[in-house]
Amino acid sequence: MERTLVLIKPDGIKRNLIGEIISFYERKDLKIIGLKMIQGNVNTIEEHYIEHKEKKYYKELIEYLMEGPIIAMLIEGENAIKFVRKINGATDPLEADMGSIRGMYALTKQRNLVHSSDSEISAERERKIWFPEIK
Ligand code: ADP
Ligand code: MG
Repeated sequence: MERTLVLIKPDGIKRNLIGEIISFYERKDLKIIGLKMIQGNVNTIEEHYIEHKEKKYYKELIEYLMEGPIIAMLIEGENAIKFVRKINGATDPLEADMGSIRGMYALTKQRNLVHSSDSEISAERERKIWFPEIK
């Protein structure tokens, strides 16, 4: 059993895609074991994206995540990390499978609706940021 951390980014909420996005994970029989809607504060968002600090898009990325409320979810299931990455699709929507969330609904590399952990180590690091209360 594996856990992964998912964010629905502000564009997902603004575009009324919350239910649609959550359905993708539920229909795969992945379990949502934590869910909250929050206005991210700058420290939390920066900590979440710490690995991107030197990237040229970093500042815009932080601003994007601060644009409005986000939804954080902790999702569990067999191979949850890889399955959720597959369901979300490639970072660039142009490269994403058309059956994925990004392939279906996102248009640009930045505003790609969702985040999910890319390894067990990042999943655990990100869980501590967003769900310290779930051990
Ligand atoms: P992923 O979210 O697929 O794991 P990355 O970890 O590479 O992708 O990047 C984190 C986020 O930064 C992306 O989801 C996207 O919102 C943004 N991003 C990545 N690359 C670019 C880029 N070249 N231009 C603008 N934004 C980007
Ligand atoms: Mg990433």
